[in-house]
Amino acid sequence: MPTLSLNSRSGFLSRRQPLQWFLPVLLVLLFASILLWLPWQAQQMEANERQEQLIADTLWVEQTIRFQIGRNEENIRLIGTEISAGYLTGKRLQDRMASLIRNNRELNRIALFDDADRLIESTDDSPLAFKDLPGHSLAAAERARGTRTPQYSQPAPPPGLTGPLLMDYHLPLFAGERYIGSLIASYSVASILDEMVPWWFAQDNEIQLTDSDDAMVAKRAAGGPGRGVYTHLRALDLPGARLTLRTNSVKSAPKLLPNLLVGSVIALSIGLLWSLWALWRDINRRLAAEGALRQQVSFRSAMENSLVTGMRARDLEGRVTYVNPAFCRMVGMAAEDLLGRMPPMPYWAPEAMEEYQERFSQVLAGTVTDQGFETIFQRANGERFPVLIFESPLVDNSGKQTGWMGSILDISDRKRIEDLNRQQQEKLQASARLATMGEIASTLAHEINQPLAAISSYTTGALNLINNAATPADVDIDMLKPALEKASAQAQRAGHIIRSVHAFVKKREPAREKVSIQTLIDSVLPLVELQAQQFFVAIQTSVAPRLPSVLADRVLLEQVLLNLTRNAIEAMQHVAPERRSLRIVAERKEESPSQTNVVISVIDRGHGIPAEVAERLFSPFFSTKAEGMGIGLNICRTAIEFHGGTMTHADNPAGGTIFRFSLPAAETVPATAMSK
Ligand code: ADP
Repeated sequence: MPTLSLNSRSGFLSRRQPLQWFLPVLLVLLFASILLWLPWQAQQMEANERQEQLIADTLWVEQTIRFQIGRNEENIRLIGTEISAGYLTGKRLQDRMASLIRNNRELNRIALFDDADRLIESTDDSPLAFKDLPGHSLAAAERARGTRTPQYSQPAPPPGLTGPLLMDYHLPLFAGERYIGSLIASYSVASILDEMVPWWFAQDNEIQLTDSDDAMVAKRAAGGPGRGVYTHLRALDLPGARLTLRTNSVKSAPKLLPNLLVGSVIALSIGLLWSLWALWRDINRRLAAEGALRQQVSFRSAMENSLVTGMRARDLEGRVTYVNPAFCRMVGMAAEDLLGRMPPMPYWAPEAMEEYQERFSQVLAGTVTDQGFETIFQRANGERFPVLIFESPLVDNSGKQTGWMGSILDISDRKRIEDLNRQQQEKLQASARLATMGEIASTLAHEINQPLAAISSYTTGALNLINNAATPADVDIDMLKPALEKASAQAQRAGHIIRSVHAFVKKREPAREKVSIQTLIDSVLPLVELQAQQFFVAIQTSVAPRLPSVLADRVLLEQVLLNLTRNAIEAMQHVAPERRSLRIVAERKEESPSQTNVVISVIDRGHGIPAEVAERLFSPFFSTKAEGMGIGLNICRTAIEFHGGTMTHADNPAGGTIFRFSLPAAETVPATAMSK
């Protein structure tokens, strides 16, 4: 038989889960960190790009300034050469200097001093004394003369300290070896930036010039102050002066990212993590539900497989929709051969076809009762077996009937046991009869002696009469006849006793016949009397007039009566002799308008039945007697119930016990009881 085995995989699943989730979680974390890293990386790249751009632009500006200053130097040097050669004087010199100033607005003034530092020519109308030049400028003049090379001075405020910071370019003039004077070109430091730096660069950057002490000497900030994020500096090394060009971009560091992007990335990541978590939770729930379902299913299929009751479902048209393994085993057919089949079914026995069809139409009409229906089915090998079928409606979730579910019990075993039981019972009854017979055999032997002795003495007397007569004609017939009649009566009585004992002990199948109660009592009476005489018990019988017969096995009923009367006589053995009376009363009882019973009571005035004995009265082998077998009452009740009757006992109000059994009268015996 299949056993319940629930092999759950849930443990395995839960062990695998962490691993299963490790990869997606790792990927999501990786994705989120890349999402966060990318903007940062973009920002870095942009910053680098901007810085590089600034450096390139600064270099370009530096080159522009250098180029312009170089050109100016060249022009001034040309003028100087021509002055030294004496070509350039007076008005022409003035014009050249003026044109230079005009074309190069970073130049503030050009002045020519002679070897005695007297002002010869100037583009500026204001008087200028050499000695009034700022200290830095004087130092530069000194260096220029000494080295005979042009020199720049550090930027310094102009003489009189009003106006922009100036940086003087000293070009010493020589005529041969002789110093003949100096040409001094003053740059307005601020104008260097204003004129030489292109506007687009100035728009994006704050530009400064600082001197060798890092003090700011000029500044241009057209696009606002620099942010200090992207800065660069280039040294403008001019002979005698060290200027530094500093650029500072007005651009701030690129925002980490437009906030919207960062925000959405973070929101997306959170959303992603949340949905992952929700998915995980959902999957977990599903797995749990799946596990429970699987367990349920395996439990159900294990249960289904271990069922011994056959189950068969049919739809409303009678088509088989389900059969369980037990049913398949029962009829010896595979489920595939049964599913989808319409009647007639392969397991229907041809001889019972009509019964099935009738039952089937009852099922379809919904008129079947809850009570089981007993019939026979046929196995695949043709073997018939009895079954008990219960049908009930098959209702779906919505309460709608979708068919019929039948449970089918193979009752072969039960039938076998019932048969066995019946046979046992019969054997028991036979043995009980034998036991009773043993008990009464000695009595019978003793009692049969009496009629035999009587017969013997009657016949001896008759013989004597014949012998004493001289001739046969002398025989006294009047004396002979009564003797022979008495002998014959005694012989009949003995034969009667013997016949009833013989019939009683003969084991045979019960046979039903109409039994008149009067005849029944009369037939047992000789045996009862035998016992009663032994113990001086008086017997009284009373049979109601027109008592109906019963349909019964005569010998069984005789046995019941004999058992009851014997018990009654035995119960009176030790009571006062005047109380020793046994009454057998038979009367009719209207149970219902359609049911008449015959009730026979065996009434004694013996010792009665105490409560503890009453409890076990009908148990087999219960006896209070030394030689009792204890099966008499049990057999009696079985026999009466076998006839559709009942058996009870009650205390006799006058002392003693009343055993009563009732049997249905023959006219009203129900059909079922008859057919058995
Ligand atoms: P047995 O007679 O062999 O003991 P029974 O089954 O006939 O077996 O009776 C069982 C017991 O019931 C008896 O031993 C007796 O104690 C009790 N009993 C039966 N009939 C009577 C009766 N009429 N009066 C008192 N006791 C009785």
